[in-house]
Amino acid sequence: MSLVNTVSNPGLSPTLCTASGANNRQIKDSYSSSPDKEILAFKVCKTQRSKSDIIFVAMCSTHTLKQLKERIIHNSSWYPLTFNDIVLTVFSNIENTWIDVKNDNDNEQLLNLNLHHNDYINVEKLETKSNRLITDYSKSSITTISQSQKKFKFKLCEKVFMMENYIVLIDIPATSTIMWLKQKSSERLQLYISNLYINLFVYDDEKNMWTKFDSTVDDCTLEELHFKNHKFICIETENDHSRIKTKTNENYLYTPGLCGLTNIGNTCYMNSALQCLSNIPQLTEYYRNLSVTNNEQSIINVYSKLLKQMWSGQFSYVKPKQLKNIISQYAPIFTDNRQKDSHEFMNFLLNALHQEQTSSIISQLFHGQIASTVTCLTCQKIEIKHELFNFLSLSINQKQIFEIHYFQLNGNQEQFLIDISIQHTTTISILIDEFICMYNPNLNKEQLLPVTLDKNCIKYRYKFFDYLIDITKNQLSLLQLPLIINSNEQTYISCLFMDIDTKNSFRPPIFLLRSKYMCRTIDFKQQINKLLNHLETTINKSKIDYKLYWTNLYGKKFNLNLNEDELLSDIDTITIGLKNILTQKYQFKQDKKFRSLTPSFVSTSLTLDKLLENFFKEDFLNDDYYCSKCIKMTQCKQKSNLCLTLPPVIIIQLKRFTYNDYSNEKINSFIEYPIYNLNLNQYLIKETNNDKCLYDLIAVLNHNGNLSFGHYITYAKNNITQRWYSFNDSYLQEIEEKNLITADAYILVYIKQQTKS
Ligand SMILES: [Zn+2]
Repeated sequence: MSLVNTVSNPGLSPTLCTASGANNRQIKDSYSSSPDKEILAFKVCKTQRSKSDIIFVAMCSTHTLKQLKERIIHNSSWYPLTFNDIVLTVFSNIENTWIDVKNDNDNEQLLNLNLHHNDYINVEKLETKSNRLITDYSKSSITTISQSQKKFKFKLCEKVFMMENYIVLIDIPATSTIMWLKQKSSERLQLYISNLYINLFVYDDEKNMWTKFDSTVDDCTLEELHFKNHKFICIETENDHSRIKTKTNENYLYTPGLCGLTNIGNTCYMNSALQCLSNIPQLTEYYRNLSVTNNEQSIINVYSKLLKQMWSGQFSYVKPKQLKNIISQYAPIFTDNRQKDSHEFMNFLLNALHQEQTSSIISQLFHGQIASTVTCLTCQKIEIKHELFNFLSLSINQKQIFEIHYFQLNGNQEQFLIDISIQHTTTISILIDEFICMYNPNLNKEQLLPVTLDKNCIKYRYKFFDYLIDITKNQLSLLQLPLIINSNEQTYISCLFMDIDTKNSFRPPIFLLRSKYMCRTIDFKQQINKLLNHLETTINKSKIDYKLYWTNLYGKKFNLNLNEDELLSDIDTITIGLKNILTQKYQFKQDKKFRSLTPSFVSTSLTLDKLLENFFKEDFLNDDYYCSKCIKMTQCKQKSNLCLTLPPVIIIQLKRFTYNDYSNEKINSFIEYPIYNLNLNQYLIKETNNDKCLYDLIAVLNHNGNLSFGHYITYAKNNITQRWYSFNDSYLQEIEEKNLITADAYILVYIKQQTKS
């Protein structure tokens, strides 16, 4: 046998290689000092449940049992052990079980023990020395014991299915009663509860099940009940957890499916996702009926095993450790013990299950199709793309209040607060539409120029396609433009308002209409008089002193006399100048009050329908689409629709977490969603009037908290009781239907209503 083989075993994880590498050095040393010794390398399992969590320990056959134990204790950091506390077991391939290594003499050489190179070994924690004396049975009035009778060894777990930490109970006589075993166990666990309220559970490794022994068999002996040696046992008090007994089948301890999942270090993201999926009847039925192999590298196998446990009706909770391990292997992002995105986990698990099979239940249940129609706005070319989805990820419109400063042609200015819900792709165009709709539906959109002002000067002109998210909420101004009747002959000119003492603008400019080619004073007379009137009313004076200028393209300034019909060649701007004493009065008169414009839909809360409507509505993409006909990036509009046939299950993610250039935040908006009859008919590419588009809620995954600290809880409907339960890691309780709709909802699972035949 070669040690190199052990070290280069391809199945070893990197950590194992390191461990064995270190041992390799030690062994070489011993080997060189005495070349005739046999080398024994052992795989020390952390627990008897798994042969994957191991360290390597290499010994010489002449080493003693004590040295082996010391080496294990030294090399593993698993438990605070001393070699007196442990008993060594080895896995027997023949018996397919763990058996004790003869433990009488710690100085026995390994070559005299029944140990072989490459054996899996394990150390079990024994009762401490003082407690070994509990084999004094004389005090027990329940049974009398003779020295010759059969004795059992049990591994007492603190909780059902938590088989990593246990205490070994030795020398338990086969003739002791269940009552006595319960009593001993509760003493060892320092529980001190009356036996009446304790149930004993024994683990059956073949069936992967815990069998319950309640108080009706308290007087039976272990022998009578055919107890076997080496079993894991556990005691649980009667009122542990929210134990929900089934009314339908008395063979179950618990209602199948009503099974919590232990939190194994910030894993509520995983547990809540698993509970959502577990309560999808078709999915769970499929995996529960799947025959599994012992392949621990198959996610399907591990997931099926977990579902079988959760739906066995034998446990109030189970530990999804194996699933976490295997998923961490495939997706290292889930390895550490930090909080993760539950949606990401669910998505990964579904994809992993899907990829393991060629034609999978996942695609049958979850995969739907979206047709998206893209129209190039330059050449009108239409392109239809089909995409598969297994989730609908819906953006949540955030309500924002925008301040809009509106400057009218006649000089009036008003300030509005407009409450609008926006997404990251909402354009200025949509805000202007809302403004027109609420302020004056007769306004012409083309006459509104969106700008940002700085000290009453135009700092930036926006295009309708610019995104609202790029604009500071209180910096949008709309300047009303005069209506151009004939664009071949007419154009705009700006009229500035200047304080002639300070040379500053005292109000934003107004655009005037001018002839495109031969521009004359007469063009402006009416327009400017209107502005002067407005200034007089604002300042509350019948006649104000003003000065009028015009400036040419080269910056030269001329006086403007409205009563003379002059040709104004190369005119660039017109300026109305007032003395500082008047501009101060003008500022003072300005109305600083905001008028609030409220869109019609703001009064109602956000609904799932509204989000779906938004998801499927026509959208504009600005320079984000490559048109193959125009051969360039163009503007386009896009409309998405669902295709038939709709999948039996639709999972909806409400995108509460935003990670982008603008913000890293959680949106806490309350969104109303239906429990019954979610209708997707209107989003179909061709609307049909049948009931194939109606869905009912089956699970809600909630996230409570913020980005850094949060907790996931799932509400799901049990298919057997047809009632709703809250699954909070290992705890669960029934909840009322009226409490299902919360502001924490993050993932919604809907299943298609059965079509009436
Ligand atoms: Zn095009």
